[in-house]
Amino acid sequence: MAKAFASLRLKPGREKSLLRRHPWIFSGAISHVDGNPQAGETVAIRDSNGKFLASAAYSPRSQISARVWSFDEGQRIDERFFRDSLARAISSRNFNEALGAVRLVHAESDGLPGVTVDRYADAIVVQLSSAGADAAREIIADALFELIRPKSIYERSDVEARKFEGLPPKTGTLRGAEPCEQIAIVENGLTFLVDVRNGHKTGFYLDQRENRRIVREMSAGREVLDCFCYTGGFAIGSAAGGARSVLAIDSSASALALAQKNADRNGQYGIEWREADVFEMLRTLRDQGRRFDFIVLDPPKFAPNARLVERGGRAYKDINLLAFKLLRDSGMLATFSCSGGVSAELFQKIVAGAAQDASASAQIVARLHAAADHPVALNFPEAEYLKGLLCKTMR
Ligand code: SAH
Repeated sequence: MAKAFASLRLKPGREKSLLRRHPWIFSGAISHVDGNPQAGETVAIRDSNGKFLASAAYSPRSQISARVWSFDEGQRIDERFFRDSLARAISSRNFNEALGAVRLVHAESDGLPGVTVDRYADAIVVQLSSAGADAAREIIADALFELIRPKSIYERSDVEARKFEGLPPKTGTLRGAEPCEQIAIVENGLTFLVDVRNGHKTGFYLDQRENRRIVREMSAGREVLDCFCYTGGFAIGSAAGGARSVLAIDSSASALALAQKNADRNGQYGIEWREADVFEMLRTLRDQGRRFDFIVLDPPKFAPNARLVERGGRAYKDINLLAFKLLRDSGMLATFSCSGGVSAELFQKIVAGAAQDASASAQIVARLHAAADHPVALNFPEAEYLKGLLCKTMR
């Protein structure tokens, strides 16, 4: 007889979020564990009466004790399940260009909690952030290799989230050859070099692709300030879009070195790159009386979780306030938050407060989001981490 599934029994009434198909089971909702499941193992989630609700991966060390693979009792969580789920996600993406870059799998929103897969030209980068995803590493690597036949599959599981799962960071080549040190990709007709081993996230901020295009298209003739420029995505886009001048700031010397290389590749030699702390630099620019027509604020996560919202909120307010002061009339501000702890509503309030304190009137011209290869499953609103506002100052 097959081994009985271990299961997590929920407290009475705690099945509601699962009935709405939310994929997370928090530790506080669990009454007890039947059996002795290991981290990453598939367990059945049952309501207080023992009725099946979902199959999920067990994460004993995390506050999120389990993440759902399937709500269908008949679905076995085996190699075929992963292969089919990966194939479905991959086939819903557009990947025509040989040198393109795209997010192929967006974790929970593609039904694969903890599994992120990005493609950079002929290399695949995998990030496994939960115990269940980690346990499925070999199955996922085999399936991706079979489905895509890339030159290499590289793992970048060195994310903060793994700490909360009790998992050590893990990086390295999983299948095929070592990836090149810098992979050239094309985005909106511009070439960027991506360092998948040492770059942020899996190497590049793919989620901003569409927003970089929007900024580029509005840059002609403007004096542009790109804050938190990383490897130059917005700055080089603006320059290519005909900006009169571009000043780009980041605190990372290695990001700026790659940014400069990227600019050269695209024939954009006039960008001024500055290694500095944005908080300080914005004050310096203000004190110098500098003004800009277009400012991009794309900072790192100031409030990764709900606990840090207040401190993060102050940081967002600070840079947005300074940006409004540096903007000319009819100036544009593209301002972003990628903090899970800050909702779209709260972010708008912070930006509104910043404008008010800077004595600036402004209107929202567009709300900006992550690109379409970062979908938001309706049962998982947490996936909408990137919020942006395109604002225009008014006299
Ligand atoms: N806009 C970029 C992505 C920005 S990621 C793109 O389109 O690719 C955030 C960047 O902020 C990182 O490159 C990081 O090095 C930088 N950073 C973080 N804190 C900073 C600070 N206080 N001052 C300047 N740069 C900072």
